[in-house]
Amino acid sequence: MSSRVSPMPLVAANWKMNPNSADEALDLVRGVLSVARGHADRVEVAIFPPFPWLLAVAEVLAESGVKLGAQDCFWEPSGAYTGEVSPAMLKGWCQWVIVGHSERRIHLGETDEMVAKKTAAALGCDLSVILCVGDRIEQYEAGTSDQVVAAQVKAALASCSADDSARLVIAYEPVWAIGTGKSADPEHAYRTMRLIRKVVGEMIGAGAAKKVRVLYGGSVNSSNVESYVELPLCDGCLVGGASLDADEFAHIVKVTAEVYGHR
Ligand code: PEP
Repeated sequence: MSSRVSPMPLVAANWKMNPNSADEALDLVRGVLSVARGHADRVEVAIFPPFPWLLAVAEVLAESGVKLGAQDCFWEPSGAYTGEVSPAMLKGWCQWVIVGHSERRIHLGETDEMVAKKTAAALGCDLSVILCVGDRIEQYEAGTSDQVVAAQVKAALASCSADDSARLVIAYEPVWAIGTGKSADPEHAYRTMRLIRKVVGEMIGAGAAKKVRVLYGGSVNSSNVESYVELPLCDGCLVGGASLDADEFAHIVKVTAEVYGHR
C-alpha cells in the first residue's frame, strides 16, 4: 500500500435524528458552510441531515462544493415499502448515502445482507456510499474485532466491483466509541483500517484497495481529530455528536485540511 497516492480526505457530518426544526438545521448548515468553503480545495465535506431537512439544506448548499447525503436508503427502486426511501429518490439532491450505521444495525435489526443490498442499490444509482462497520465492546474485549469487521466488509461488498471503488468509503466505527466520548486508541484504529483495505483487496482487487477511502468514526472532536487523520491510510473521519456544533465541526475540517495539506 506504500505506493498509494492520498486522495482528497472526507469529513462527514452525521447529524443523526437532529436538530428538531428546519430553522435549526439551516442555522447549523450555514455555520458549517462559512468555514468549509474556505477548505474546499483540500477537504471534501459532506453533511447528512435527517430526511425531512434534506431539501432545505440542499438549497443552502447549492453550488457551494459541500456535499449532501442521506443517513440511509432502501434497496428497492420503488413499490410497497411504507416509510422507505429509495436511492433513486435521493439522487435528485444527494450525492452521498450512509449505509450500515451501527445504530441501525442495533436498533432496527439491519443485517449484513440488508446492508449489502443497500450498498449495491445506492452504488447502482451513482450515489457515493459511506459503508459503516464496527465491533461491539464484547467483541473488542474478546479480541475478535478483526473477524467481526472483516466479515461485515466481506458481506457488504458481495455485489460490488472494482468500478465502485471511487464512490465507496468505508468507515471504521467501533460501536463502543460512538457517542460515548471514549474514542478508540489510534493504533487500534490504524490496524483495523489496514485490515479493511486488505479485505477490500481480496474482494474487489488491489487497485480498489488503494482507491477506496477509509475513515475513522467514534467520538471524534476538535481535540482528538488530528490523532486519527494523521494516521497513514486514514482518509478522514465520520463525525456524529461534534458535527451538531458548527464551530466544533469547522475546527475538525480545518485540522483535517492542515494535516492533509502536509502529506
Ligand atoms: C456516528 O454517528 O457515526 C458517530 C461517529 O457518532 P459520534 O461522533 O457521536 O461518536
